[in-house]
Amino acid sequence: RKPVVAIDGPSGAGKSTIATFLAKRFGLLNLESGAMYRAVALKALRLGLPLDDEPALASMAETMVIELQPTENGNRVLLDGEDVTAQLREKDVTQAASKVSVHPKVRALMVAAQQRMGAQGGVVMEGRDIGTVVFPKAEVKIFLDASADARGYRRFVQTGPSEGQPTEDAVKQELRERDERDRNRAESPLKPAEDAVLVDSTALTLDEVKARAEAIVLE
Ligand code: C5P
Repeated sequence: RKPVVAIDGPSGAGKSTIATFLAKRFGLLNLESGAMYRAVALKALRLGLPLDDEPALASMAETMVIELQPTENGNRVLLDGEDVTAQLREKDVTQAASKVSVHPKVRALMVAAQQRMGAQGGVVMEGRDIGTVVFPKAEVKIFLDASADARGYRRFVQTGPSEGQPTEDAVKQELRERDERDRNRAESPLKPAEDAVLVDSTALTLDEVKARAEAIVLE
């Protein structure tokens, strides 16, 4: 059986890049759990549901169909059959995803769907609670971290800088807010699993992080 590789960590630590790399290197399916919370957020925004209305969000989430289709660079995401991949990266969706994901009833539905997707093994799943909640028995667990400053800077360089783009300070501030929400929520707060291997990429190059991640899977 091919393994389940869980990659968790705060926003902007480089999880997607490393998950994509490992998926290709080891022939695994790359699944972005965050895309599911983003899809919930997008649908809630479209319907005008308040982001703090847990029962309404949960009943919406119960009937919606989210499909993750792994590609060479990240997941193509279908929401009730519609390709919403590009919209999921928009700023309002990003912020709304951070808010809808605090609700236990929403999380329970996403976790169950994620467990079904990875039940056969052979996946790299990236998120916040994969090693702690979704696949506590994953063969490989990596917790990818970096200083808030390094994560903010990388995210800023990745998205801009160009006209109409947020400033470096604004990017860092937004990241900090999402981070705090992930770490402080009552349900499944962001933290490393006891048996996760910690990788702090603050002072590492991308190639160094890839080499470390590869070595962890091969161990
Ligand atoms: O990873 P990504 O930024 O796409 O995730 C969007 C949001 O979904 C995050 O800000 C986080 O709050 C939430 N999330 C979560 N649990 C996961 C994955 C994402 O709570 N496993």
